[in-house]
Amino acid sequence: MKKNQKEIFDCVIIGGGVVGGAIFNKLVRLGKSCVLVDKASDVATGASKANSGLVHAGYDPAPGTLKAKLNVRGAKLFPKICRRLGVPLRHCGALVVGDDRQKVEALFQRGKQNGVNVEILDKSQLHAKVPNLAENLNVALWAKDAGIVSPYLFTICLVEEGIINGGKVLLDRDVLSVKKTGDIFEVDTQQESLFARKIVNSAGAGYNEIARIIGSEEKEIEFRRGQYFVFDKNSLPISCTIFPLPTVLGKGVLLTPTIDGNFLVGPTSEASDESTCVTGEGLREIQNKARLIMPDIDFKNAIREFAGVRAICGDDFVIERSKKVDGVVNLAGICSPGLSSAPAIAEMVANLLDFDGKECENLKKLQPYVMFKNMSSSQQKECLQRDASFGQIVCKCEKITKGDVLGVLNRPLAIKSVDAVKRRTNAGMGRCQGGFCFTKVVSAIAKERGLKFEEVQKENRGSFVAVGDIREESKW
Ligand SMILES: Cc1cc2nc3c(=O)[nH]c(=O)nc-3n(C[C@H](O)[C@H](O)[C@H](O)COP(=O)(O)OP(=O)(O)OC[C@H]3O[C@@H](n4cnc5c(N)ncnc54)[C@H](O)[C@@H]3O)c2cc1C
Repeated sequence: MKKNQKEIFDCVIIGGGVVGGAIFNKLVRLGKSCVLVDKASDVATGASKANSGLVHAGYDPAPGTLKAKLNVRGAKLFPKICRRLGVPLRHCGALVVGDDRQKVEALFQRGKQNGVNVEILDKSQLHAKVPNLAENLNVALWAKDAGIVSPYLFTICLVEEGIINGGKVLLDRDVLSVKKTGDIFEVDTQQESLFARKIVNSAGAGYNEIARIIGSEEKEIEFRRGQYFVFDKNSLPISCTIFPLPTVLGKGVLLTPTIDGNFLVGPTSEASDESTCVTGEGLREIQNKARLIMPDIDFKNAIREFAGVRAICGDDFVIERSKKVDGVVNLAGICSPGLSSAPAIAEMVANLLDFDGKECENLKKLQPYVMFKNMSSSQQKECLQRDASFGQIVCKCEKITKGDVLGVLNRPLAIKSVDAVKRRTNAGMGRCQGGFCFTKVVSAIAKERGLKFEEVQKENRGSFVAVGDIREESKW
C-alpha cells in the first residue's frame, strides 16, 4: 500500500554512488534533511564499485577544468574524511612511466599548473623503485600524494554516517514520476511519495532516465567499459600505482595495489553499452598492454576479472543547476576522476543548492568497519566472550568470521545481498572466490532477515542465488 509522507525534505538525491553518497553526507552534515534514493539494493553498485580505487593526485586533468579543480580539492579532503569514517586510505604514490621525456615533462608541467606535488625520475631512480620494469622505460613522473582506497567502503561509510545523523536512505526504489507544485517537488516511487524543496540527479549511467522523469536537461552520454584482472595477494612486486603515458582514451592500462592487499591490472577503455561483462578480447588487450610495463607479469596469479562502465559527457564533468527546472542540480558525465573528486563535488553541489554554511556540531561518529582478524587481542577476547560466532570462520581465504558477517548485517544501512556482505567484509574476495563461504553467507542473510534461502539475492532485485531445495539447507 502506498503511504504518503507529509515530511518535506530539504533535498532528494537520486543515485547512491560515491557522488550521491558524498552529497548526502555533506548535506546531512550541514543540517539539511535529506533522502537518498537508489534503484539498487545497496549503495555503490554502479561505477563506484568497479573502478581502480585510486585517489588521483590531480596531475592529469587539463588545467582550469572542473576535473582538475575538483580532483585536487577532493584529494586534499580525502585523508580527513577517511580518518573520520575509519576508512583505510594509503598514499602509495603513482608513477607514470614511459620512454618519451618530452611527454613526461608535459605531464609534469600540467601537474605543477594544477598545484600537484610531482617530480621526474630518471631511469636508475625508476628501476630502483620498481623491479622487473621493461628495459625501455627510462623516465617517469612521480606523484607521491596519489592514494588507494576501497571505493565501495568509502561510499558505504559516507552514507552510513549520513544515516546515523538523520539522513534517510531508500533502496530498491524506482523513481516513477516527479511533479512540482509551487516550490515543492513530489517524487513518487513504487512505495512512497517524497516531498522536497530540491532534487539532485546523481544517477550516473541512469542520468538521462532521471532527467526525462524530472523534465530537466538530457545530455549526450557515451559509455566506455573498463575491464580488469584482480591479482592474488603478494603476487606482484609493486607498492605504488604504475600508469603508462596517458592517451586521448584515458589513463591507460595500469598496475596498482589495492587497499586490501590485492592488485588490479586494467582497465580497458572501449565503447560499450551499460553492460559490465568481460570479454576475451578485452582481457587479451590488458595482458598485452601490461606486458609493455612489466614483461614477465604472470597472469596465472589473476583470481578474478570484472568490468566497470564510465559515463562520459564531453571532456569535463557537468555539474550545474538545471535551467529548465528550478531547484534541480544535474551531475552528468562523472567519469574518472569522479571518486577522487567526490568530496569536492559534494561541496560544490551544496553551494549550487544554496545550502552552504557551517557543518553542525556534535555530529554522531560512525563505528568503523573492523573485522575480527584486525582487532586487538583484548577486543577479540571481548567479542568471543559476547558472541561465540566470532570463533567460526566463514571465509577461509580472507579469514572472516560468522560474527563479522552478522555484524555487517546489523549496521545503519540495512543490506540483504551476498555482494553487499562481500563489499563490507571481503568474504568471497579471496583465492577461492566464494567457493567455501557463499552458502554460509546466504544462510546468515536468510536467518538474519527472516528469508528463505532461495529468497536471498546475490546483488539486486531478482538475482536469486537458488531456486529451491534439492536437499536439506546447509546448516552452519
Ligand atoms: C573502469 C573505471 C575506472 C575508474 N577509476 C577511477 C579511479 O581510479 N579514481 C577515480 O577517481 N575515479 C575512477 N573512476 C570514476 C569513478 O568510478 C566514477 O567517477 C564514480 O564512481 C561515479 O560515481 P557516481 O556516483 O556518479 O556514479 P555510480 O557509482 O554509477 O552511481 C550511480 C547510482 O545511481 C543509481 N541509479 C541509476 N539509475 C537510477 C534510477 N533510475 N533511479 C535510482 N537510482 C539510479 C545506480 O544504481 C547507482 O547506484 C573510474 C571509473 C571506471 C568505470
